[in-house]
Amino acid sequence: MIEHFFMCPHCWQEISMLLDPAYSQTYVEDCEVCCNPMEVQVSFEEGELTSFEAIELGQ
Ligand SMILES: [Zn+2]
Repeated sequence: MIEHFFMCPHCWQEISMLLDPAYSQTYVEDCEVCCNPMEVQVSFEEGELTSFEAIELGQ
């Protein structure tokens, strides 16, 4: 697992998330600071993170 730091799309605080480099995935996560949900889209190629997006989800 790798730890990735990024900005929450709701509160703009820097938060981190553990990612599994074996898979490209879409997660729904709650921000650890403001508890709002976000969709996180992660792509890996050969264990390297190639794309990371955190999208604000509506309530
Ligand atoms: Zn937040």
